[in-house]
Amino acid sequence: FTVLGIETSCDDTGAAVVRSDGTILGEALASQQDIHEKWGGVVPGLAREAHVNEIDRIVAAALAQAGMASAAQVDAVAVTVGPGLEICLRVGCEKAKALALEHAKPFVAVHHLEAHVMLARAGLGAEEGLAPPAFPFLALLVSGGHCQLLLCEGVGRFSILGGTVDDALGEAFDKVARLLGLPTGGGGGPAVERCARAGDPRAYPLPIPMVHKKDMNFSYAGLKNSFRMTVERARAELALSADAPLPDGAVADLAASFQHAAITHLEQRVRRAVAHCHARGVRTLAVVGGVAANAQVRARLGALCAAAGERDGEGGGAWRMVVPPARLCTDNGVMVAWSAVERLRCGVSNAAAGQEVYARVPLGPQIAAEASGSG
Ligand code: ATP
Ligand code: FE
Repeated sequence: FTVLGIETSCDDTGAAVVRSDGTILGEALASQQDIHEKWGGVVPGLAREAHVNEIDRIVAAALAQAGMASAAQVDAVAVTVGPGLEICLRVGCEKAKALALEHAKPFVAVHHLEAHVMLARAGLGAEEGLAPPAFPFLALLVSGGHCQLLLCEGVGRFSILGGTVDDALGEAFDKVARLLGLPTGGGGGPAVERCARAGDPRAYPLPIPMVHKKDMNFSYAGLKNSFRMTVERARAELALSADAPLPDGAVADLAASFQHAAITHLEQRVRRAVAHCHARGVRTLAVVGGVAANAQVRARLGALCAAAGERDGEGGGAWRMVVPPARLCTDNGVMVAWSAVERLRCGVSNAAAGQEVYARVPLGPQIAAEASGSG
């Protein structure tokens, strides 16, 4: 069967048609980079307006690429209903409801974070020789608004092993990009990653967060603050005036130093989660969310997984890491459509009429249960 998925939870208008075997038949995405760039962040009212302007075109483009004249040709319609910006979520939700009702199609309400995580099971890493992970698996969700370690036991069944006590990692990348005067369109992460490639990660030593806390939680507020002070000190040492840009070499070294400290913190938490899950028979780590697009994050966590399987005394086989293709780590329609495929396979769909959106909603079966009353 095929599903049309729609995503409008933040600043990307996405739609895709995905087949139940994981094949992407059509996908389209309009990101609002240029609109939010000059404000240094997402402005909800402008984001909503952009979704309203783009939604019909994006849905039509995804269907056209799939060779479909209209949503009459898909088997179900799915949409992100939370968490996210309520006025933005509503644009996608109303569109999906209208299509489902017009063509009398099953409707699936999708949780945004579940969609990020489930994408790891779509088999899209197959070109790298990876089979999709079976349940249970460990997931590291690193995105613009979240930083969590999850034990995924089934569709809609997650245990949260750890979360951020303050800021998310994507948010920290965005802040670092602004402090370095880098473009923040589409998030600051890609620009920081690009600059860091030419830099020395040991040029500006930054404190690794929570090294003495033996849990699986994250904290990026302190690192963000240390980074801001380090940038100020570097500017003072170079005797730069307030509006003078930092030299390229310093920007590269600062970006590399931040990335190094941030990923070291990830490693420390993930290592603990891997040990915790190893005892429960888990051998797969899925890294998902926008920050999973980062090549350094992938390389270092991949190495961690390889080493985890080789550790003395643990036995029972190696760990492997699964990551979606980089372009699908940030928000898109494919992850929504795929997440709905997984829900439909379990027999979960919703009543389209009266479907609400949720600014905040926990991971779990709640969305479907609440909206349909029957599951
Ligand atoms: P959430 O999913 O938590 O609701 P979101 O949907 O806004 O938040 P995503 O779209 O998953 O977040 O990810 C966007 C974030 O990913 C941004 O903060 C961006 O800076 C970060 N990001 C994207 N690419 C990279 C990269 N190559 N390196 C580091 N960070 C990146
Ligand atoms: Fe997201």
